[in-house]
Amino acid sequence: MQGKDGYFMDTEQQQQQRKIIHIDMDAFYASVEQRDFPEYRGKPLVVGGLPEGRGGVVATASYEARKFGVRSAMPSKRALLLCPTAIFVRPRFAAYKEVSARIREIFSRYTDLIEPLSLDEAYLDVTADKLHIGSALEIARLIKQAIHDELQLTASAGVSVNKFVAKIASDLEKPDGLTFIGPSAITGFMENLPVEKFHGVGKVTAEKMKQMQLHSGADLKKLTEATLVHHFGKVGHFYYQIVRGIDNRPVEPHRETKSVGAEDTFAADLEAPEDMYAELARIATLVQERLRRHQLKGRTLTLKIKYFDFQQITRNYSFPQPMDDVNTILDTAKKLLAATLPDGKPIRLLGITISNFGEAPDKKRRPGNPDQLSMF
Ligand SMILES: [Mg+2]
Repeated sequence: MQGKDGYFMDTEQQQQQRKIIHIDMDAFYASVEQRDFPEYRGKPLVVGGLPEGRGGVVATASYEARKFGVRSAMPSKRALLLCPTAIFVRPRFAAYKEVSARIREIFSRYTDLIEPLSLDEAYLDVTADKLHIGSALEIARLIKQAIHDELQLTASAGVSVNKFVAKIASDLEKPDGLTFIGPSAITGFMENLPVEKFHGVGKVTAEKMKQMQLHSGADLKKLTEATLVHHFGKVGHFYYQIVRGIDNRPVEPHRETKSVGAEDTFAADLEAPEDMYAELARIATLVQERLRRHQLKGRTLTLKIKYFDFQQITRNYSFPQPMDDVNTILDTAKKLLAATLPDGKPIRLLGITISNFGEAPDKKRRPGNPDQLSMF
């Protein structure tokens, strides 16, 4: 890109030249169910694993269910305790995928720079929009309107000059939100942002930050890059940049998913194998849900174990065929874990990742990325 001062531009100028929208459907799976089945409307609805099943988790809860404290990734048994009147239904991924394709078509009226994050979420770069509308805020409004009129669903949009801020912005006024954070507002916005709102900062990291008296972006900004890296590892570099509103990651329409996984750091270290297996069951369910959301099957399973002393090990297993089945994932992860148990050390983190997505070439690519097909 050519800056006004010549070929090289500083980071700030480069950012100000981009117009990024993050669109996120509101309670997507649950909203599609409520749209298609009127009897679910206005009721607390939980899409995901059934509470009577083994290790079932909530994929999406309707807003009526959220009022009771029901959240995504929560065990379905716990959701039922919080909201005994909730209706539980299994996800219909084929239906969600179809809606997702129609949403993608609406995006493509304005730009081809679309980076899907899942079936219901995407980044759009509308710096040079196809219709020469020029205003990212107006484009976001038009997209929301089209999703409402054509699909009878609502989306929330965040508009800014980079992905990080756009993503946080889309979450601020959910549901049916539209939030614009322009270049001049970014510094103040990031300084005021509570640390737990930084996406990528998990519960455990947020807790650690609070113990260090780091409550907001302004607190993080006082630390040097070296200090952030010292306390938080590699991601400290990212925190250092992002708290200054700097995020030059491009919107990548062709990015392929290389692995899909889930992990959890536990509030208290696990010592009993039954507790470890119970956590693995929950993680395996999340992994299956994510695989299906991305229409992927993988041949390699990696189990990650971090011990109380932060020592970390991984164990792999490869299958003859790509798979996405929760029981296979869980049984394999359990066997890999069992083989390490003679070590007898308390465990603070468990994670399962599936990779090596071979075969099924029509499903290998991310949804909404048909360009590679046209090459043949
Ligand atoms: Mg969503």
